[in-house]
Amino acid sequence: MGEFSMTLIDTFGRVHRDLRVSLTDRCSLRCTYCMPSDFKSWMPTEELLSADEMIRVIEVGVNLGIEEVRLTGGEPLLRPDIVEIIERIKNLNPSPEISLTTNGVGLSKYAVALASAGLTRINISLDTLDWTRFRKLTFRDRFEDVIEGIASAQQAGLNPIKINTVLMRGINDDESVALVEWAMNKNLQLRFIEQMPLDAGNTWQQSEMITADQIMKDLSQSFELTPVGTRGSAPAEEFLINGGPHTVGIIASVSKPFCGSCDRLRLTSVGQLRSCLFATEETDLRKVLRDTKLSELDRTSKLQAAFQDSVRGKLKGHSINQIDFKKPDRPMSAIGG
Ligand code: SAM
Ligand code: SF4
Repeated sequence: MGEFSMTLIDTFGRVHRDLRVSLTDRCSLRCTYCMPSDFKSWMPTEELLSADEMIRVIEVGVNLGIEEVRLTGGEPLLRPDIVEIIERIKNLNPSPEISLTTNGVGLSKYAVALASAGLTRINISLDTLDWTRFRKLTFRDRFEDVIEGIASAQQAGLNPIKINTVLMRGINDDESVALVEWAMNKNLQLRFIEQMPLDAGNTWQQSEMITADQIMKDLSQSFELTPVGTRGSAPAEEFLINGGPHTVGIIASVSKPFCGSCDRLRLTSVGQLRSCLFATEETDLRKVLRDTKLSELDRTSKLQAAFQDSVRGKLKGHSINQIDFKKPDRPMSAIGG
């Protein structure tokens, strides 16, 4: 551990150990809850952090106590340097755990290389087992690619493989039981995520959301669910299915927020550090990274100070359920989920 380890503590005593890094805001799908089908406001390429710049930030983070780096996006597998980025993170000292959240579309091409590069955990998003629904939900005909991607990840030995599912009323909320059965048969760990108001199209309505309570009610008609221990800072509440060994998780970000134990920070693909998915303020690290007048020593100090500032400014919790809730300017795809 470096000299600055364990110092990312906010004013509410939360210690930050998890950094989510968005590698790009581009995506191969157009999930309706994440970005509009005709989305075109991509960040200009020159504004995206290079692999060198990203590694510089992550290195500062691990020396301040970051223990896990989750790569996300947009679709992280669209970054041609994804394998190099993972290898370079793995070689940092201290070396953090590395995980990846992907839509699975490009996974069959990359699974073996990702596993050899040092990826420890992978989450693959899949909301339906029906290819026509998949196309309607994502505006792309890539269902088979995702299924192949999941199989490739298993063959490459990535373990555990978690599946992220967002249920939407009248669209796929009748599939919760089938998805759990499918995941059990394939030895995958399914987690349902409540839909959050982060879509670029601003169509989210709380009254339409499928809540954790509703999911529990639906699943309990087919399975016996027993809570598994304490969850610490993990967002998912896990349940044993019919006594185990399989589990299912529910992430109740909206109806039962877990902000009190949040240990996460986020770096956008254009180098803005965020203390919360819902933060309306960001700390500009790219400016520090690209300031040619700074010595490398000064750059490191400024990056460390920026991490500390961001953590100090972190609010107690999000206010989705309150009347004064203000949605962040960036959609989920541009923040990094
Ligand atoms: N493209 C990758 C993927 O889909 O896995 C990584 C980025 S995506 C933004 C990360 C996760 O956020 C996915 O599991 C996705 O389902 C979830 N997500 C996106 N928009 C969401 C929303 N409005 N509410 C809840 N989860 C959302
Ligand atoms: Fe792309 Fe992931 Fe957003 Fe779907 S959830 S549009 S796959 S970034």
